Amino acid sequence: MATRKQKVPKVGFVSLGCPKALVDSERILTRLRAEGYVIAPDYAGADLVVVNTCGFIDDAVAESLEAIGEALEENGKVIVTGCLGARGDMVSSRFPRVLAVTGPHATDEVLDAVHQHLPPRHDPFESLVPPQGIRLTPRHYAYLKISEGCNHRCTFCIIPQMRGDLVSRPIGDVMTEAENLVRSGVRELLVISQDTSAYGVDVRYRTGFWGGRPLRTRMLELAGALGELGAWVRLHYVYPYPSVDEVIPLMAEGRVLPYLDVPFQHASPRILKLMKRPASGEVNIERIRAWRKACPDLTLRSTFIVGFPGETEAEFEELLAFLAEAKLDRVGCFAYSPVDGAIANDLPAAVPEEVKQARLERFMLTQARISRARLRRKVGSVQQVLIDEVDDEAGIAIGRTRADAPEIDGVVRFAARGLSAGQMVQVRITASDEHDLEGELEQAGQDKRPAPRAAAKRSKAR
Ligand code: SF4
Repeated sequence: MATRKQKVPKVGFVSLGCPKALVDSERILTRLRAEGYVIAPDYAGADLVVVNTCGFIDDAVAESLEAIGEALEENGKVIVTGCLGARGDMVSSRFPRVLAVTGPHATDEVLDAVHQHLPPRHDPFESLVPPQGIRLTPRHYAYLKISEGCNHRCTFCIIPQMRGDLVSRPIGDVMTEAENLVRSGVRELLVISQDTSAYGVDVRYRTGFWGGRPLRTRMLELAGALGELGAWVRLHYVYPYPSVDEVIPLMAEGRVLPYLDVPFQHASPRILKLMKRPASGEVNIERIRAWRKACPDLTLRSTFIVGFPGETEAEFEELLAFLAEAKLDRVGCFAYSPVDGAIANDLPAAVPEEVKQARLERFMLTQARISRARLRRKVGSVQQVLIDEVDDEAGIAIGRTRADAPEIDGVVRFAARGLSAGQMVQVRITASDEHDLEGELEQAGQDKRPAPRAAAKRSKAR
């Protein structure tokens, strides 16, 4: 009997925002592929479009609204999810034609909306997806989201309102996902959350299991176990708490990358208090000193806000003095921007826009000098480099050292042919500026990837 072939349902996808939103997108895409949907490369080829939005700052809101408008114009059938979706009324009143609106971390709701407006085709042979799921990052690195939400209430931030309180993923699930990623070729795992040091607080550091072995749901145990997989492990969004001290020895031993992304936000005790952030600038300086003593290779990345309501010139200078003393490697800085719904908007003595911008410039100039000096110290050294891109025609390869996270930090450029993305090589650093490095390939084709220890052991046992 002849069967009529069903049309394959095609979904377009626009993913905006931070790595946490990117992981949400990957989960939705993985489920869609598992159910037999095809991901369309453009609006014209899609039966409907999902837009995963960001609502963190005004610019991100504007970009998200523009993306929704464009998807409606180009395709007409649009489902909105993500942080801006948490403000559902705003989206629906501006775009009444949108089919459905959900908040962030809402894979089930997005799938329900897709099923309603574009039912899946049932074909178990086409519905198979690889165990590592669908990823939006290159094959050799991946973000590993360990929790959702946040228990802090920083006054400039509305993430807890949008994403709720901290919910840690079971450590066994996180480790299994990490193992699958490493098996599929991932060489760098980027651990993300809203607050990585708080991992497990909500479940009282419950003991979980990974491959029959007990493991506590805690940053220290997680970092140690991830360090066994044979990939680079990079910790992001680590709150400056004393518990962070415990992971520094793992970095000194080379089990996880000697890299910490710690958002300090400010240095003045009064401003930190107004922001509802822990620790003062002085405590943070002491902590940085102790970390560097225990792990001299440590790379520190941080973010700051200038022009927070009430910030005086003296407090801003206190921040500049902190920068000069802390000598952080990588720094991002934002001029305070009032996010709708943030408590800080009601604080007195808003800083005028031109003062904010002038402070931002002075801050960035100070940090540029520091970054330039920090990078200059690497000239002459040989660094292990993970290759991100190769242009064989131009004879150039671009990669990153252990001190550089993808997208946000610097790169190393060097002349090479015949290499491929995801390969590890040794590069002698020959020049630097305030952001990037240049070098010469030291050992062509050498790939010092250690065997994925735990993954190898465990697959034998099965
Ligand atoms: S730690 Fe503060 S800034 Fe970060 S998500 Fe939580 S409330 Fe927002």
